Amino acid sequence: MMPTHQPTTSCGVLLAAACVLLTGCQMPTADADTTTTPFDPSAARRLAAEDLLAAHGTGQEERIRRGVDQLARMWRESDGDTEAFVQFARDEFLPTGELLDDTFNRFEYVSESMDGYFNAMSRDLRRGVDLEIGPLLPLDRRLAAFNAAAHLSDDLFTGKIAQTALLNFPLTDLQEKLARGENWTRRQWAEARLTDGFDTRVPASVGQAMTAAAAAADTYISNYNIYMHHLLTPDGQRLFPQGLRLISHWGLRDELKAQYADPDGLPRQQMIRTVMERIVRQEIPAAVINNPLLDWEPAGNSVSPAMVNDADPPPGAAATAHDAREDDERYRQWLGIFHAAQLADTHQPDQPSLIARRFNVNREIPEEEVEALLEAVLSSPLAGRVAKLVSSRLGRPLEPFDIWYVGFKPRGQHAEADLDVRTRARYPDAAAYAADIPRLLQDLGFTQEQAKFLAGQIVVEPSRGAGHAMGAARRDDLAHLRTRVGAGGMDYKGYNIAVHEMGHNVEQVFSMTRIDHTLLQGVPNTAFTEALAFVFQDRDMELLGLDTKGAGDLKPLEAFWATREIAGVALVDMRAWRWLYAHPDATPAAFRKAVVEIATEVWNAYHAGIFGARDVPLLAIYSHMVDGAMYTPDYPLGHLIAFQIEEHFNMHRDRFGTEFERICRLGRLTPNAWMEQAVGSSLSAEPLLKAATAALSRQERAGTD
Ligand SMILES: [Zn+2]
Repeated sequence: MMPTHQPTTSCGVLLAAACVLLTGCQMPTADADTTTTPFDPSAARRLAAEDLLAAHGTGQEERIRRGVDQLARMWRESDGDTEAFVQFARDEFLPTGELLDDTFNRFEYVSESMDGYFNAMSRDLRRGVDLEIGPLLPLDRRLAAFNAAAHLSDDLFTGKIAQTALLNFPLTDLQEKLARGENWTRRQWAEARLTDGFDTRVPASVGQAMTAAAAAADTYISNYNIYMHHLLTPDGQRLFPQGLRLISHWGLRDELKAQYADPDGLPRQQMIRTVMERIVRQEIPAAVINNPLLDWEPAGNSVSPAMVNDADPPPGAAATAHDAREDDERYRQWLGIFHAAQLADTHQPDQPSLIARRFNVNREIPEEEVEALLEAVLSSPLAGRVAKLVSSRLGRPLEPFDIWYVGFKPRGQHAEADLDVRTRARYPDAAAYAADIPRLLQDLGFTQEQAKFLAGQIVVEPSRGAGHAMGAARRDDLAHLRTRVGAGGMDYKGYNIAVHEMGHNVEQVFSMTRIDHTLLQGVPNTAFTEALAFVFQDRDMELLGLDTKGAGDLKPLEAFWATREIAGVALVDMRAWRWLYAHPDATPAAFRKAVVEIATEVWNAYHAGIFGARDVPLLAIYSHMVDGAMYTPDYPLGHLIAFQIEEHFNMHRDRFGTEFERICRLGRLTPNAWMEQAVGSSLSAEPLLKAATAALSRQERAGTD
């Protein structure tokens, strides 16, 4: 797609938000005060159609009427008067045939080039904030906020390149894609993606505002670390090792998960829960964030100068023990994204909110359909039965943070510290991981040829944040895998993320370099790239050479539990955005209050009963809510899609690599069209619920034996 561009990232995904806006807006009213014969859309349509019909005959009538109509809708007075419109149509319309095909091919070629180079430039501009290459410079933030492609959409309209596409190729909305896409040829799909890029006219300032808001929120989130050794229990104990610095929420949540492997992990998990709730409610003292110079007792919420020195303080960390709370910065950042989104709303009558754009343009699944899928998982009566099983496996009543229970996963059997030793030894630096990629891919089931090719297309680099995969958008560029590599090597978390990101990269490489139409590069939406990444991530233990026998039995339960957790998070995110649109003038404090209420409401509806606790705000801890512009629904969708895809791969275990490649080469169809062609059925929660029910019955039977 042409005039969007920002790097193709996954996980770090803030930039997707910018794309939403860039593709989704119209030009502000142009001031064309010098036009003497103003542009009259209906006269322009009629005159141009008559002219073209006379020139090309009724055989082209349908194309002519559609093209002229599309052109008129996007034409502005600044493009010229009625006469200029008719002249443009006369000059640029091409009847079906060789010249039209050549024009399509030319568009495809330059789209790849423009997308590809802007993507590479953006990657370079973001280098300072994305990579662990020394101290973050003030300049780095400015560079990351700078979008070199911000004026591209305007310029493509000003140069009337966009208008040529709109005159000659059909512009389709979600409804038409859903109704007719099934019968389209690959070329028709590629044409649809070409014109999608021109479905609105974007003022550059709008795209810039979103890029800036996303970059600010990203920086806020990327530096939101908690120095765990500095957390004190009420009686002054330190439960976490020296030097452990965890980013919220990923690091905190993953540490909480890791503690299931430790029989004495419970107090640590409880402490992490308190930290998370303090963050959500913004009761956390601002001074303790990203600061190893202070000790913090989360339960009593008191701050004191650090009594131990275990880490170099980042720039700006102060040793003065203030206990003033963070003062709603979390919600101020989130509101910043909302306000940037609002700028786009006014330019876009067809998709007048970020909510509409997220579902109808980015996901291409109607909002109600996504909500119904989430609720199908959350309201399944299976939850109570699985909860009983979790409780009996833990040997204690459930606590709210057990939404993150990982004991169904084979990883739960290995202590994180042991895993860290393994991964650090194997991957002392990013280069060691890169060197191992061919082996990793072959162990996953790719052929030697595929593995060699893929490894040559992926660059591995140490990330500043939690990690992300940045695909190429030109066939002669490379995909970038970013993950955290500490001074002592890659710890298990970094490795686990690296395997996940590698899944994204493989998808990116196949769907870019081995696809028939580069206009179709990618997957239907980000949930699909997450699904494909999960397929990789789920096998990380096996790739470390650890025994995962018997894991298959519990897998549907693990998937069900994890999907249920993130489905709740997604509902909170969706409802928070609905609240924002209902209260557009909200203050950060009012928004904080609303999010806490929404999170507890979702909790009380779906979790309170089985966890035995009400009014828990934990679901709102996800950092992507703050900086991702309603990205989180893609995670539960990803789990559902992943489950369906996994089942498919399990049936074709012998040709995993071939199937993976075939599926990636389908490209950016609509979600359901893609699913039908990938696995032979449409998107649904049923396969997961069915498999989980069967697995649970097996477990219950085993338990009573
Ligand atoms: Zn991901």
